[in-house]
Amino acid sequence: MRPRVLLHVCCGPCSVYPVRVLLEQGYEVMGLFYNPNIQPLQEYLLRREAAEMAAGELGIRIIFQDRDAEPRFFLRQVVFREDNRCFLCQQMRLERTRSVALRGGFAFFATTLMFSRIQPFEQIQMLGKSLETGKCTFLDQDFRTGWHQGNEQSRAMGLYRQNYCGCIYSEFERFRGKLGPSDEQ
Ligand code: SF4
Repeated sequence: MRPRVLLHVCCGPCSVYPVRVLLEQGYEVMGLFYNPNIQPLQEYLLRREAAEMAAGELGIRIIFQDRDAEPRFFLRQVVFREDNRCFLCQQMRLERTRSVALRGGFAFFATTLMFSRIQPFEQIQMLGKSLETGKCTFLDQDFRTGWHQGNEQSRAMGLYRQNYCGCIYSEFERFRGKLGPSDEQ
C-alpha cells in the first residue's frame, strides 16, 4: 500500500509541481484547500476553482474546508498582531492540515507553500516540523527546485494566477502605489 500524504493546497498553480513529485515518489496524495486568509470572497472562489481544476488535471482528490472563509475568522486571528500575521497565517493552515491528516489516518502531511519562492521557506519548514506527531510526519521537501517547471505547467493548464498573496493586507501592499502621493505632511 502506498504511503498517504495530505497536501495542503494554497492555490492551483503552486500545487502542480509538488503533486507531480509526490506521485512520482510513490505517495498517494490527497489535497486539502483550507485558506481562510484569502479575501475577498470573489478572489477566494477564483483560487478555489483553480485548485479544483489542478486536482482534476493531476488526478488527485481534493477536499475543501470553506466554513472559515468568512472574513472575520481570519481577521480575528491577526488583528492587532499584523506584524506577525504571516506566521499566524501559516500556522493556522498547517495546524488544520495536521489535524485533518490525523483524523484521516494519513501518515504524512505537507504544504504547497514550500513550492513558493515568495513564502519564507525556513519558517514554514520549522512550523511543519514542530507540528509533527508520532503518527503523522511532516514531509519536509523543498519544492522550490521546480519553480519554473511548475509555473510553466500551470500556465499550460490555464489555471488562474493570483497577483497578491491572499489577505487584504497583502492586496493593499501590492497595489498601494496606485494611490498616488500621500496627502500627509
Ligand atoms: S501576506 Fe500572505 S502569508 Fe502573510 S498573512 Fe497575508 S495571506 Fe497570509
